[in-house]
Amino acid sequence: MQTMQVGPTICLRIEELAAITAEPGRLTRLFLTHEQKRATELVRSWMSQAGMATRTDAIGNLIGRYEGNRPELPALVVGSHLDTVRDAGKYDGMLGVVTAVACVEQLHREGIRLPFAVEVVGFSDEEGVRFGSTLLGSRAFAGTFEPGLLESRDARGLTVADALREFGLDPATIQTAARTANEVLAYVELHIEQGPVLEKMDLPVGCVTSINGATRFKIEVNGNAGHAGTVPMAGRHDALAASAECILVVERRCASEDELVGTVGFIEALPGAVNVVPGEVRFSLDVRAPDDAQRQRAVEDIMRAIEAIAQRRDVTIKITRSHEAAAVPCSPWLMAQIDHAIEAEGITRCHLASGAGHDGMAVAAITNIGMIFVRCAGGISHSPAEAIKVEDAEVGARVLLSFIKNFKQRKTA
Ligand SMILES: [Zn+2]
Repeated sequence: MQTMQVGPTICLRIEELAAITAEPGRLTRLFLTHEQKRATELVRSWMSQAGMATRTDAIGNLIGRYEGNRPELPALVVGSHLDTVRDAGKYDGMLGVVTAVACVEQLHREGIRLPFAVEVVGFSDEEGVRFGSTLLGSRAFAGTFEPGLLESRDARGLTVADALREFGLDPATIQTAARTANEVLAYVELHIEQGPVLEKMDLPVGCVTSINGATRFKIEVNGNAGHAGTVPMAGRHDALAASAECILVVERRCASEDELVGTVGFIEALPGAVNVVPGEVRFSLDVRAPDDAQRQRAVEDIMRAIEAIAQRRDVTIKITRSHEAAAVPCSPWLMAQIDHAIEAEGITRCHLASGAGHDGMAVAAITNIGMIFVRCAGGISHSPAEAIKVEDAEVGARVLLSFIKNFKQRKTA
């Protein structure tokens, strides 16, 4: 393993992938697009070079399979996603796929066959940018893709079913992407941290404990629009001022506990004119925490406070829950093996929760999951400023390879 020098190769491949984009000068690669097809073909060529048999499943996930010491063994699945947000960084998702391919390539080079198969998956949709719902690739993989999702529409009015057909896939076969629990031994994903913890601790990699649960709301505030010059301050029902108070409640409540986060990332005030008291405001709310009860408590407190604000200001506030995902814990038996692989590289073990969602949230429906985080510069992600060090890419690959080589199936009781 000491001879493995894959950091530079991984970074070169990331550059090649990042060049495949729908928008010149910035990286945007959405689900079931021409760009996704090109990225899939590029990664497929690397998988073939690494001794894997490849296929694209019914939702467009790319799967490379490296057989174990006999055919048809259940697989350890490693991977991440190949889609991006708009104006994305080049490591989010791609690092996990490219590193997993590099690890298998090393097994292939050394002529090693393990007592299980290794499958590398490049999920087709994690970010959910095109159709507004996330994890479409990994949900189909886990068999939890609801058929109704085929009717979701993108900005141009195309449905998921239309897009699948355009991509050369058959929406009627979507269920064939589903894997069963006995084909899969575990799912392990390497991903950039997208946060500042590892950098602060001066560590290149860490072991994830849990993917945070999240609740999202659409909130609509209705007051009275009025003339900015003639309606006295005392008689106003200003929807924007009420919203501002709500947003500060979110900030205060979520700052009061470690690991709890709350964000209002979208706001729109109507009619949106300099000389009109805002009568109607819509904003989003996103609350996350590693612990579901902690998140629930925060959400209840925020809702109570918002109601009180509505009453006092005599505005109506309509709250719609748009998303609810429980926290997904990583499995202790996989965490122990990841820790071991990290320590085998002479690195101090570090446990951290994931504030962002990942494919593992969906894959957890059929198998146990584990995650390895790689340090990223300034904790910045979902931005072209996303960056990692070549040395950290190398360490990540060594840890993942060591994990794969030493992987022991969970003892069934
Ligand atoms: Zn990601």
